[in-house]
Amino acid sequence: MHCPTCESENVIKNGTIHNGKQKYACKDCNRQFVLDPKNKISEEKKELIDKLLLEKVSLADIAKTVGVSEPWLQNYVNR
Ligand SMILES: [Zn+2]
Repeated sequence: MHCPTCESENVIKNGTIHNGKQKYACKDCNRQFVLDPKNKISEEKKELIDKLLLEKVSLADIAKTVGVSEPWLQNYVNR
């Protein structure tokens, strides 16, 4: 399991939300989140990001175009 913001695996269970879904907290960036498959970045999106990176599009523009957060994108680029 990964933090959706910083991709850290350093996440802990942190209670549940109103509808009973498991809530998690990231110990690295302190973000709290609920796992939602809809929020997963698809392979198609990653391919699009790779293409835009090759075209030297700025990270801010890529984040806006593809619909991902800039922290996530920065982390993706760093890998
Ligand atoms: Zn995190």
